Amino acid sequence: MNPQQVLIGIGSNLDDPKKQVSRAIAVLNTIQETRLLLRSSLYSSSPRGPQDQNNFVNAATLIETYLNPAQLLNSLQTIESDFGRLKKRRWGERIIDLDIVFFGQQEVSLSNPNLTIPHAEALLRDFVMIPCLEICPEWRLPNGKPLRDYTSGCETHNLHQLG
Ligand code: ATP
Ligand code: CA
Ligand code: CA
Repeated sequence: MNPQQVLIGIGSNLDDPKKQVSRAIAVLNTIQETRLLLRSSLYSSSPRGPQDQNNFVNAATLIETYLNPAQLLNSLQTIESDFGRLKKRRWGERIIDLDIVFFGQQEVSLSNPNLTIPHAEALLRDFVMIPCLEICPEWRLPNGKPLRDYTSGCETHNLHQLG
């Protein structure tokens, strides 16, 4: 089987978020049958859910993996719980969030585990789209269209590239 190239969206707004995102990127490279190819800059964004929480630090990485989508989700969830992520309110504060944004050009819709790829709201979120396009400007969606064609439809979250 050929490896797949996968874009991962990363976010944190607790306990030194820049450090958590950088640490998570390093840990992604330790997932079995997976290697890190590219990482974006770090960005800051306003929270999209409850507003009484800190700004987020976001990034994206391109990885290459022989895992299937469900196996990769399982590995990401293990990393989240190793970081001490707790179940809190929806779209609330978290020490780390690792989402599978795109998995090659595959479309995935599973109920067990609950997994939708492309990520359901990826195209609506500047803090996902802009880091992904920074590292993969030529990325194509399962429909064959360039990802960059969708930026105008994004909701804005005061995204800033961090120095
Ligand atoms: P959002 O998915 O809107 O960004 P969230 O990241 O805060 O919200 P979580 O609490 O981290 O949501 O995850 C909720 C569930 O989403 C997970 O249990 C997971 O099974 C499911 N899920 C569905 N599709 C994906 C995906 N593409 N990547 C990661 N998790 C996914
Ligand atoms: Ca998320
Ligand atoms: Ca998530």
